[in-house]
Amino acid sequence: MSKAKVATVWLDGCSGCHMSFLDMDERILDLAGKMDLVYSPLVDFKVFPEQVDVTLVEGAVSSEEDIEKIRHIRQHTKILVALGDCAVTSNVPSMRNPIGREAILKRAYIENVQVKPHLPTVDIPRLAPNARPIHEIVTVDAFIPGCPPHADLIYRTVADLLDGKTPDMTGTRFG
Ligand code: SF4
Repeated sequence: MSKAKVATVWLDGCSGCHMSFLDMDERILDLAGKMDLVYSPLVDFKVFPEQVDVTLVEGAVSSEEDIEKIRHIRQHTKILVALGDCAVTSNVPSMRNPIGREAILKRAYIENVQVKPHLPTVDIPRLAPNARPIHEIVTVDAFIPGCPPHADLIYRTVADLLDGKTPDMTGTRFG
């Protein structure tokens, strides 16, 4: 039987969800019997593959680049999973929403800078007006809450999905 193709993606998050993924420790070897990690910050493949079976997404959608990325990933993924509270609810990145994009940029790049303060126009992805959970942009098939999500929950969810089951979220607390 061929192995499932699995990807993990990092949008506007702190990488804590990926650290929790690694906290599955030796259970990653169990999963490795059923899956290949084909794209991830944890591996060295730089192009999102044409077709992925399961993609776990960490982080909120906060920039125009994130919006393009998540739409592209959705088109090339069978089962899309929101990994962690930033992806599920927008969590920490959404703390900027009530302040407003322009005020945040001014504070970070002009008011708090002493040498050549200016708003960036190149190299930095343009911020979206608000940070949003990924289900507001694309359809999400499964949610793994937590900040970060517990490694046990990540393992159970990924193992269920690889076995073709609907993940059992009984007892899982959202928010
Ligand atoms: Fe970091 Fe928590 Fe957001 Fe995961 S959910 S990216 S651990 S802030």
